[in-house]
Amino acid sequence: MSVRSIVVIGAGTMGNGIAHVAAQFGKSVVLVDVDPNALASARATISKNLDRQIKKGLLDEAAKRATIERIELSTELARACAGVDIVIEAVPEIAELKYSIVEAVDQAAEGGTIIATNTSSISITEIAARTRRPDRVIGMHFMNPVPVMQLIEVIRGLATSDATTATAVQLASDLGKTPVEVNDFPGFVSNRVLMPMINEAIFALMEGVARPEAIDTVMKLGMNHPMGPLELADLIGLDTCLNILEVLHRDLGDDRYRPCPLLRKHVAAGWLGRKTKRGFFTYD
Ligand code: NAD
Repeated sequence: MSVRSIVVIGAGTMGNGIAHVAAQFGKSVVLVDVDPNALASARATISKNLDRQIKKGLLDEAAKRATIERIELSTELARACAGVDIVIEAVPEIAELKYSIVEAVDQAAEGGTIIATNTSSISITEIAARTRRPDRVIGMHFMNPVPVMQLIEVIRGLATSDATTATAVQLASDLGKTPVEVNDFPGFVSNRVLMPMINEAIFALMEGVARPEAIDTVMKLGMNHPMGPLELADLIGLDTCLNILEVLHRDLGDDRYRPCPLLRKHVAAGWLGRKTKRGFFTYD
C-alpha cells in the first residue's frame, strides 16, 4: 500500500517533526493533540524549522506554504482517524497512555489502517495486542530532530505482517529517510545502546567526576560524537530518557539499566531539558 494520508497523534517534540516531514513530502496530514496550546506551538515550530530549511537552500517559500497547507490541526482523534491510511502515535513514553491511544485509534479507524508507534522502548507486540489488528501495528521510530535525522528504526512486533512492514519501509523512503528493520526487544537497538551511555554520563556528573561541559567535551572531541551525552539528553527530554531507562530496567531485569538518581531529581524538579529551557544546561 502506498501511503497518502497520515494522522500524527501528539504534537510535541517528535509529533511536530513527523507532521512537518510527512507534509513536506506531499502527504496529507492531520496533527492531533489533547492540548490546543501544543498544537499552536507545533505550528510555530514547524514554520520556524521550514524557515531554517529555506535558509539552507533546501526549500523555497512556495514549498513552505504548500507544506503548511497540507497540515490540519485537530483535538478530535476519532474524527481525524476516519479513512486515513496510517496513524503514527507520538504521545509520551508511558505504556498505559500508548495502550489507551491505540485502543481508541483501533475503534475509530477502518480495518485497513496501519497503526504505527514512535515509542522509544515499549514493546510493539504488547501495543499491538491491545488492538484487533496486531498484524497492522508496527514501530516507526523517528529520530530527533525529525527534519534533520536520516534514520527510521522500523520495528516488527511478533504479529506484524510482511505487508505492513513493506508499507512502513516504503513510507520511510518516501519521506527521504533510511529505514532499518529491527526486532521487538526493549529499547530496540537505538536506545538499548544510547541510554546506558547517557545514564553513565549522568552518574559521572553526580559523582563529581567532571563538570557537564567537560563530560560533553570529552565525548565530542575524544569520541567524535557530534553532541555530548548531556546535551543530547536535554534534546531528547529528561522525562523521556527516564521513561526509557525504566522500561529497559524493568523489562530486561538488569540493574545496569537503573536510572541515575540525579536524572530522577531533574525530572522531579521539572528540569526536562530544552523543552523547559533547563536541564543539565540552560537554554534561551
Ligand atoms: P513530548 O512530551 O514532547 O510530546 C508529547 C505530546 O503528546 C504533547 O504535546 C502532549 O500534549 C501530547 N499528548 C499527551 N497525551 C495525549 C493524548 N491522550 N492524545 C493526544 N496527544 C496527547 O514527547 P516526545 O519527546 O515528542 O515523545 C513522544 C514519543 O516519541 C515518545 O514515545 C518518545 O519515547 C518518542 N521519541 C522521542 C524522541 C525524543 O528525542 N524526544 C526520539 C524518538 C522517539
